[in-house]
Amino acid sequence: MEVKTSLLDNMIGVGDMVLLEPLNEDSFINNLKKRFDHNEVYTYIGSVVISINPYRSLPIYTPEKVEEYRNRNFYELSPHIFALSDEAYRSLRDQDKDQCILITGESGAGKTEASKLVMSYVAAVCGKGAEVNQVKEQLLQSNPVLEAFGNAKTVRNDNSSRFGKYMDIEFDFKGDPLGGVISNYLLEKSRVVKQPRGERNFHIFYQILSGASEDFLCKCCPCNAMQIVGFMDHETQSVFEVVAAVLKLGNIEFKPESLIIFTPSFFMLELKEICELTGIDQSVLERAFSFRTVEAKQEKVSTTLNVAQAYYARDALAKNLYSRLFSWLVTRINESIKVLKKVMGVLDIYGFEIFEDNSFEQFIINYCNEKLQQIFIELTLKEEQEEYIREGIEWTHIEYFNNAIICDLIENNQTGILAMLDEECLRPGTVTDDTFLEKLNQVCATHQHFESRMSKCSRFLNDTSLPHSCFRIQHYAGKVMYQVEGFVDKNNDLLYRDLSQAMWKANHSLIKALFPEGNPAKINLKRPPTAGSQFKASVATLMKNLQTKNPNYIRCIKPNDKKAAHIFNDALVCHQIRYLGLLENVRVRRAGYAFRQAYEPCLERYKMLCKQTWPHWRGPARAGVEVLFNELEIPEEEFSFGRSKIFIRNPRTLFKLEDLRKQR
Ligand code: ATP
Ligand code: MG
Repeated sequence: MEVKTSLLDNMIGVGDMVLLEPLNEDSFINNLKKRFDHNEVYTYIGSVVISINPYRSLPIYTPEKVEEYRNRNFYELSPHIFALSDEAYRSLRDQDKDQCILITGESGAGKTEASKLVMSYVAAVCGKGAEVNQVKEQLLQSNPVLEAFGNAKTVRNDNSSRFGKYMDIEFDFKGDPLGGVISNYLLEKSRVVKQPRGERNFHIFYQILSGASEDFLCKCCPCNAMQIVGFMDHETQSVFEVVAAVLKLGNIEFKPESLIIFTPSFFMLELKEICELTGIDQSVLERAFSFRTVEAKQEKVSTTLNVAQAYYARDALAKNLYSRLFSWLVTRINESIKVLKKVMGVLDIYGFEIFEDNSFEQFIINYCNEKLQQIFIELTLKEEQEEYIREGIEWTHIEYFNNAIICDLIENNQTGILAMLDEECLRPGTVTDDTFLEKLNQVCATHQHFESRMSKCSRFLNDTSLPHSCFRIQHYAGKVMYQVEGFVDKNNDLLYRDLSQAMWKANHSLIKALFPEGNPAKINLKRPPTAGSQFKASVATLMKNLQTKNPNYIRCIKPNDKKAAHIFNDALVCHQIRYLGLLENVRVRRAGYAFRQAYEPCLERYKMLCKQTWPHWRGPARAGVEVLFNELEIPEEEFSFGRSKIFIRNPRTLFKLEDLRKQR
């Protein structure tokens, strides 16, 4: 009998890695490469979708394609991100199961594009009518707004997400979209004041600068998108005023001895313009850049800032203004799109990063990726094995690397790196990045995944490739060396109180709202939480949220480092396959059963293939499926009966069933 060719064609490789013979790293890569060369950028591992960035637009996302995949079974057509989107949407609509779509991969692998494809597919197939269309438009247009403010050109990606994003799309009982909620994770705000060589600031700054002509502003800026999302004109105006103020802050210079107040120059003009834009009293801002007030035992002591401190204050203000504006944008968008019902979450978070110089930002980003890998293990590998146990199916255990130990190295409440960083930041006395490193050396020295020059473990002492000011973590995705410089400062995330008070006094309602702690009536002597602990808490909330949903995985792979089409770099792909644990994923999947379905829907779908079950089967569903499989002479080793589900070993069996159905 003809077996569905799209998944089994030898020319273009196999569509599901579960079918690969023999299975090893080489055959895995060759299969991906063969498919990539034939413009097949999607491949399955069971229900997981591997996506390779084609770096050019392929004609595979057309409305016709949407129609092709709509309401079709996952295995019916060739692998596609639309098949996963359709499956997730239908389980949500028909089975009331909340879904989440987890998209992982390194910078430039195609996560953000994938998340937009999922969203646009779901928008295309769900609900109709003017009201529903407006909701869809708002959901889709939140992307360009947040990309303008949160993405930037980096060495690795011209449109790199510099924040993490999780979006719940909400549906009513019929499956019509109602709205959504977005959560954002740690914007890389240091980029506002300093960009690595060859990289740029956030897109919005260039859009504003080239926006001298109104016309451009309308076409290229997110203005239009902001309007669709529901921003009032005065709100959009306020947002741009804040962005312009941040830009101008970068132009302020301080000279030795004579602080800005005494320097009537070009930069005074900048200061004046900032104050005009923001409604801040110029003398208040000048003072805030010149003095620092510290309260000690009810007494206020003002000290004059030196030039370095003044620059520090300026940069801290720019970063704070911008990142608070960004969070405000997210909150504001949420107000427009929020309601609560069935939920599909789409997670698009910055990918794992290994640069030459890795700092606090990379540390945080990579921690987040460890957690995502952990949840992949929890939900896919572990869950797979546990399901066999639950269903009473015989099963051989497969070993896989569990990265829980690395998560612990970072987040353990007592001995984790983040906890020690916090402890250092709160400790009185002189705290420097070096004292932090020393502390790490004491506490983590013997941890298997931690290395530093001063580790007591002599095995690293001779490792001259590791400078004294660095530590190295063996992440699941590879070794990363972190420079400690800046860790303490970035974690402290200090903004002098004089500045937050100056901002609060601004005659500008948006800016005032961004700095609530500047209100003198609400002085809170408690330290605000550190950047690291805030991030850890928000990641924990995210993980909890994801665990309540049915996961769908898209694993993005970057084919080359050149941002170029048609190039498939074997070594680069191999590295990603290894750290994504894709081979283990296939092995677990193969050792077990490629497909499982509860008895009722299975019988419902295939009962037409057997006289005894058609049109009605009067006994329990399980017995019906037994009769059906018997009649179709499906080999016994091909399936197992679990407590509530039928398990099918090889996807070929499923294709056969599907083909038989079509022939009817
Ligand atoms: P980061 O972690 O830096 O945010 P990312 O994984 O989100 O990276 P994307 O921004 O989605 O990466 O993709 C990078 C670029 O690759 C896109 O701007 C686009 O040019 C191209 N690209 C990605 N996916 C596709 C696709 N399916 N079809 C065509 N081009 C694509
Ligand atoms: Mg991205």
